[in-house]
Order: sequence, then C-alpha cells, then structure tokens
Amino acid sequence: MFTPIAGRSLVVTGGSKGIGKGIAQVFATKGAKVLLTGRHAATGNAVVDEITAAGGSAAFFEGDVSSWDDMQAMVSRAIELHGGIDILCANAGIDGEAGIAEMTPDEWNEIISVNLTGSFLAVRACLPNMIERGSGRIILTSSITGPLTAIPRASHYAASKAGQLGMMRTAALELAQSGITVNAIMPGNILTPAVVASGTEYIRKMTATVPMKKLGTVEDIAYAALYFASDEAGYVTGQTIVVDGGQVLPEALTD
Ligand code: NAP
Repeated sequence: MFTPIAGRSLVVTGGSKGIGKGIAQVFATKGAKVLLTGRHAATGNAVVDEITAAGGSAAFFEGDVSSWDDMQAMVSRAIELHGGIDILCANAGIDGEAGIAEMTPDEWNEIISVNLTGSFLAVRACLPNMIERGSGRIILTSSITGPLTAIPRASHYAASKAGQLGMMRTAALELAQSGITVNAIMPGNILTPAVVASGTEYIRKMTATVPMKKLGTVEDIAYAALYFASDEAGYVTGQTIVVDGGQVLPEALTD
C-alpha cells in the first residue's frame, strides 16, 4: 500500500478537460485538495461541481498558462486556499496542424508558448513555495510525439513536448537536494476532447497502430501521475513513463 495522499494540495493546469480533468478527479478521490485551472470558467466550475458532488475537494482558477501574471496569481490562490502546493501537474496543452514548409511563425509560437513556456511558467511560479517547504512533486504531461515518435504537420507540437523533457531533466538536477522531484508522463493516444476533435479517421488509424487495439483513458495517465506524486517515488527524479498501450513498440506494421 502506498502512503495516502489525502490532504495534499494539488495544482493541475488544464484540469478542466481531458487528461487534466482525469488527474483532478482521481487525486480528489484519493483525498487531495485540488486547484484545477483553465481559461474557461464554465467548464472548470462544472468539473469542480462533479468532484464536490462525489465528495471531493476542488476549486477552479481561471488563467492562461502562457501568462506569467496568471501563473503567479494561480500560486497565490493555491496558498490562500490550501496553504501551499505539494504537487504540480503542469498539464495544459494544445495541438495544431501545419506542415513545416507552410507553418507561420505565429502558429509555431502559439504552441510553444502554451505547451513549453506555459509548463515553465507553472513550474517557475510554484517553485518558491515548494523550496520554502522543502518538498514538492512536479509532474509534466509531455507526449510520445516529439521525444519518441513523429506525426506529419506537428513539428511545433513535437518540439514543445521534447522541449518539456529537456527542461524537466535540468530542473530535476538543479532541485535534487531540495526535496522536490520533477518527472514527466509521456501519453500515447488518450481519448480526450482534443483527440475526439481530431476526427474519427484519426482515432481509427491510431487505434489500429496501438498493439492493445484501444486508446488510453484519462485515468491511465492519472494513475501514473499518482505514482510520481507518492512518497514512495521520492527517489525518482528526472524520469519519464510512457503510457501508450505499447504504441511505440512495433518494429513493423502488424495486424
Ligand atoms: P484537452 O482535452 O484539449 O484539454 C486541454 C486542457 O488544457 C483544458 O483544460 C484546457 O482548458 C486547458 N488549456 C488549453 N490551453 C490553455 C492555456 N493556454 N492556459 C490554460 N489552460 C489551457 O487536451 P488533452 O488531450 O487532455 O491534453 C492534455 C495534455 O496532454 C496536453 O499537454 C497534451 O499535449 C498532452 N497529451 C495528450 C495526449 C492525448 O492523446 N490526449 C497525448 C499526449 C499528450 P481551456 O480550453 O478552458 O483553457
């Protein structure tokens, strides 16, 4: 049995939908006090209502991860509500589609500023509180796309997800003696609103590529985050875990 995380303070960016919502719900079920974020209050507050109705503790903070002011305000709110931050899941992210030969600098910058700079700003904003307390768990949602695999028309997304891992490893090293661990999850294809928006043909193709012949669930990712957040993972830092139903394994196309 792992040490319970009941009473721990979790901040999850992009906690209003998809993987972040799954993380918020699973951690709340385990008794964590959750502050979930996103840019749209109605969606975020609906998740808070669901968690509260199920007996959990959650609040919503409206903010954009690409804004330094918003990330500082998010941390102030977590301290005000929960006395500090034990766990940060820097999860908010977006995708986009453009071939590298036609991609505009604005398209590139939008993805990098949300996925990569946004992860940095969330981490940077939480660190003073974690350092002061001498403990913390930072968990980034990266991807297999970029660090391990590639999809045409997603070079900006792939670069942002690979970039997160470079930041994660460096931060883990810098913080190794601070009581703070920094790790990342690399999801494969997880059934979330973002993936549903990619269309049924995308989902059909991806399902065919996964050896388990199914897409992942948000809970599959949340339980990996729960491991990194545990006391028992205290000696694990600068590491990644792939959660992809075996998608990166095949050397050849198989049935
Ligand atoms: P999603 O269903 O679209 O949810 C994205 C979440 O991020 C929402 O809560 C969204 O809320 C929030 N968000 C987006 N832009 C934001 C911004 N600028 N500031 C603050 N919040 C923002 O996406 P998802 O599939 O769950 O993806 C979550 C993370 O997992 C991303 O980092 C993604 O790259 C990664 N990932 C997903 C998959 C997958 O298969 N689904 C695979 C690998 C990696 P608002 O729109 O209200 O802001």
